Parts: sequence; C-alpha cells; structure tokens
Amino acid sequence: MIGTLVGGKMIRTELKLRPEEYHTDALLRAAAARKAEVPVQDIGTVRVVRRSLDSRRDIHYIADVEVYMTGEPLGPRFAPSEYHDSRQGGRLVIVGAGPAGLFGALRALELGWKPIIVERGKAVEQRKKDITAMVRAGQVNESSNWCYGEGGAGTYSDGKLFTRSTKRGDVGEVLRKLVEHGAEEEILIDTHAHIGTDRLSGIMANIRKTILEHGGEYLFEKQVVDFIFSSSGNVRGVRCKDGSTVEGEAVVLATGHSARDIYELFAQRGWALESKPFALGVRVEHPQALINEIQYHGPNYSRLLPAAAYSIKTQVEGRGVFSFCMCPGGVIVPAATANGEQVVNGMSNASRSSAFANSGIAVTVSAADAGAFGAESPLDLLRFQQNVERKAFASAGGGLKAPAQRLVDFCENKGASQLNKSNYMGECVAVALAEVLPRFVATSLQQAFRDFGRKMHGFYTNEASVLAVESRTSSPVRIPRDDHGEHLTLKGLYPCGEGAGYAGGIVSSAIDGMKAVEHATCIR
Ligand SMILES: Cc1cc2nc3c(=O)[nH]c(=O)nc-3n(C[C@H](O)[C@H](O)[C@H](O)COP(=O)(O)OP(=O)(O)OC[C@H]3O[C@@H](n4cnc5c(N)ncnc54)[C@H](O)[C@@H]3O)c2cc1C
Repeated sequence: MIGTLVGGKMIRTELKLRPEEYHTDALLRAAAARKAEVPVQDIGTVRVVRRSLDSRRDIHYIADVEVYMTGEPLGPRFAPSEYHDSRQGGRLVIVGAGPAGLFGALRALELGWKPIIVERGKAVEQRKKDITAMVRAGQVNESSNWCYGEGGAGTYSDGKLFTRSTKRGDVGEVLRKLVEHGAEEEILIDTHAHIGTDRLSGIMANIRKTILEHGGEYLFEKQVVDFIFSSSGNVRGVRCKDGSTVEGEAVVLATGHSARDIYELFAQRGWALESKPFALGVRVEHPQALINEIQYHGPNYSRLLPAAAYSIKTQVEGRGVFSFCMCPGGVIVPAATANGEQVVNGMSNASRSSAFANSGIAVTVSAADAGAFGAESPLDLLRFQQNVERKAFASAGGGLKAPAQRLVDFCENKGASQLNKSNYMGECVAVALAEVLPRFVATSLQQAFRDFGRKMHGFYTNEASVLAVESRTSSPVRIPRDDHGEHLTLKGLYPCGEGAGYAGGIVSSAIDGMKAVEHATCIR
C-alpha cells in the first residue's frame, strides 16, 4: 500500500485492476477501499489521474488514482491557460493552421503577440464538405483535403496523442489546451490517449474562437508562394498566390510535410534545405475482431476493453520496418494532396467502432536509396516519394483508387485476383504491389510481415489486405534552423512542425510550434 486515508485527506495511490474490476465506479471504489483499508462508504470519489492497459499476459489496468473521503472537495485538474488580448501586440505571421501553427498561435496570445494565421485551405466546416465532395468525385481537391485546411493533417486523423519525444517539451500542456477547447478529460489520463476525428473538428473551431476573441486573425484560402524581406534582408512577411501580402515582425513557417511547393521554393532560391530520411510502405488492414483476439489472448475481453491496438517492429537486413499510426476500429483514407498521386493513411472516430484495424507498415528510406533521382539534391527523397505515389496512382487506374492485395498473396508474390472487403474510403483495385513499390521496400515488407506473423500469431493471414502507398509518414526534407529556431540563412523565419523536419505527429508538432513562437517573439 502506498498511502492511507489520514484525517480525511485525499491520498494518491496505484491500483492494479482486472478489466472487470475497472468496469464501474462502484467496483473502482471497492478496489480503492481495499487498497486504502477503509470502509467503502467512507470513500467519496476515486479520481483516476493516469491509466495504462497492460495486455501482455494477465491483462490488467494500472491506475494511478486520487482517493477522496466522503464530502472532501475535488481540486481542479489543472490551472487554465491565460490568453491576453493581442490587438495592440506585435504582429506575428504564422503560415499553416496545423497543430504547429495553431498551438504556436495560442502561445503567441499567452505572450501578448497578435498571431495572423495564413492557411491555404479552408475552415473546418467547409473543409468537411470539400472532403465529402472529393470522395464523391474521385478527385483530389488540391487546397482542401485530408492534409490541407484548418487543423492541418491532424484534423481528419485518429487523433492519437502519444509521442516518443517527451524530452522536447511539455506534452501535458498540449493535452490541457485540447481539453480547454473541448477534448474529453480522459486524454489527460490514458497513456495512449486519442480523440477521434469526429471530435477534432469541433476542437479546431473552438481554438479558432479563442484566437479570434483575443485579437488574432485567420486568413483562409491564402496559399503562401514567397516571402517578403525588410531592407536589412530579414523576412518580414509573405506573398500569397493571389498577389496579396501579409506583414509582421517575424514569420513562423508551419506548412507540414506535404507542402512540396514550399520545398521547391527553397530549392529554387538556394535557401538552406536538407534531405531527410523518412519511411515508406503500405497500410495493412485486418478485421478488428482478429486483432482483439491476438492482443487480448482470446475473445473474452473484447466486450470490456477498447478496440485493440498494436505496435510492432523488426529489422530486415539492417533496415527498420515498423508499424506506424495504427488505427483500431478505423478507416483508411486517400491522403494525397495533388491529382496524379496515390497516398493512404488512417483515421478513426472517438468510438473506434469500425470492424477494421489498420496500420501503416513502413520501411526506412535514406538518401542512399534515392540515388536514381540525381546526385545529392535536397529534394532527392521527395522525388523518390513522389515517384512511388505516381506509380501507385497509375497502377490502380487513377482517381482515388488504391492498389491493394491480400497480405499473404503480396508476401508470396501470388498475383492479385481476389480482394477482401475493406474500409478504404475510395475503391480498391487488385494490383501486384511488389511491382509498384521499390524493390527493397517490397522485399523488406514481405520479410517483415512473416516476422510479425511469428510475433503476433494470426497476423500473417490472407484475411488481411495491404493498400499502397503509405508515403507521408514524415517529411523527406528538413528546413534547417539554428539553436534559436531561426532558419540557417533566412533571418526572421522560424520553420517548425513536421514540415520543417523537426517533429512528427500532432503533439510533437504542437510543442514545436509553441517553441518556434517563443523564439520568434524573443527579442535578442
Ligand atoms: C490521415 C492522417 C492521420 C493521422 N493520424 C495521426 C494521429 O492519430 N496522431 C498523430 O500524432 N499524428 C497523426 N497524423 C500526423 C499529424 O497529423 C501530423 O504529424 C501533424 O498534423 C503535423 O502538424 P504540422 O502543423 O506540422 O503540419 P500540418 O498538420 O500538415 O499542417 C500544415 C498546414 O499548412 C498548410 N499549408 C501548407 N502549405 C501552405 C502554403 N503554401 N500556404 C499556406 N498554408 C499552407 C496546410 O494546408 C496545413 O493546414 C496523421 C496524418 C494524417 C494525414
């Protein structure tokens, strides 16, 4: 026992609970009473502050809880953020309304600066309609899609909120700001928290409300195509495709990993840019019931536990192959940002209730692999990525059609006549994927899938499908910056988030955006 209830004061303790014990508040209180050795009627509330599910053998939750005596008031979970009215503050131009740009804008308000967000896509309400129309028409809307628009690539996602980059900043702050804007408090508790795409658009609209109410501005449907400079050569604003300009005291660049036009701009002008290793592969889709059985060791716990997730990796001849952005109970989406390219990704609703589990399975790709695209250009890996996407597009016959194959057929090069039912939002077309993917990617995946089948019994099956191509895993380019977050050669420009190559995922991009704004607003 970690502590006891002394003098009617709250104690914090840890409970190890079987899923059936965690199922209701009454059972939770009973477990806390046993642990604290007090009568259950003396306990008022048991508040869970951290929770993880250990499903390795004997499945159980580890819950870090606060136990309050009857009548004892609960303290607030956290202190609210303080945003200032920024109407009279310094103007800060933020390009991109993804997690990096929006959390950067919130930080600007906390520091008393006026954020002006310049975004090529549309507000979430309109973006939702564009995405529906895109699926119906079978064509990519090149300014308003799964990656572009308010909330960036994070809006139509699973909204998974865990990150490996805890050293980079305060993960808790990002989660608290999401809760302040409408996310469930549960995300503060779960070690593998997620929000779900059905909730994310409302949260993005609430963040917009905060930013506007405090004097910030949004400029939608404004694609930045260039920067403007002060007489001393510092970046002091941006030029948009429609000819308009937006000026401020500094520019934060948060355009995400799909902004190829921005990378092209840097390359054309000779501004510092580097090629960056990334990963490319396929999205694998299983029946969710099968993944539940594998992860929960049989069918017993499916009713009590959430749709099961997995994380798996291996090495094939020195090359990493790993699961990426796993979406339990999810949907596969067409995530290309231009016509003529085919890209898949995954998302899910808060309930994670679809009958399918999908995950990216990606192979690491380094500069040496892109040799065929010219000698040492910073855009080599981007061209490599784009080339595979174009091949995938052509192989399936265009539109939003995804080339697909059954898993074992793919691994054994057996041709592609039969397909499984899939939860892909477009149409699947049977294609031999080994002919679409670069050879080293295909062979690495084939070996990795067999290995995964040995580690997760039942995973390697023709009940599963593989869809191509999972290529937007992270940026294949880095926009380098110094220790103060400033671009190496363009003074006054602060590249950040996934597009700058310094973050990957919603939380780390948000943290990076906040840091970029701290640097940009710091008078040195
Ligand atoms: C379908 C899908 C599911 C995902 N699921 C998850 C998940 O569950 N968990 C997770 O952590 N991550 C997930 N990701 C990845 C995550 O969304 C990104 O890592 C994150 O959004 C990156 O944030 P960012 O702000 O750096 O860039 P982005 O979110 O890409 O935002 C960049 C913004 O800049 C805008 N822009 C681009 N070019 C210009 C320009 N020239 N002018 C003006 N504006 C421009 C874009 O329109 C976009 O809105 C998912 C991604 C996708 C596509």
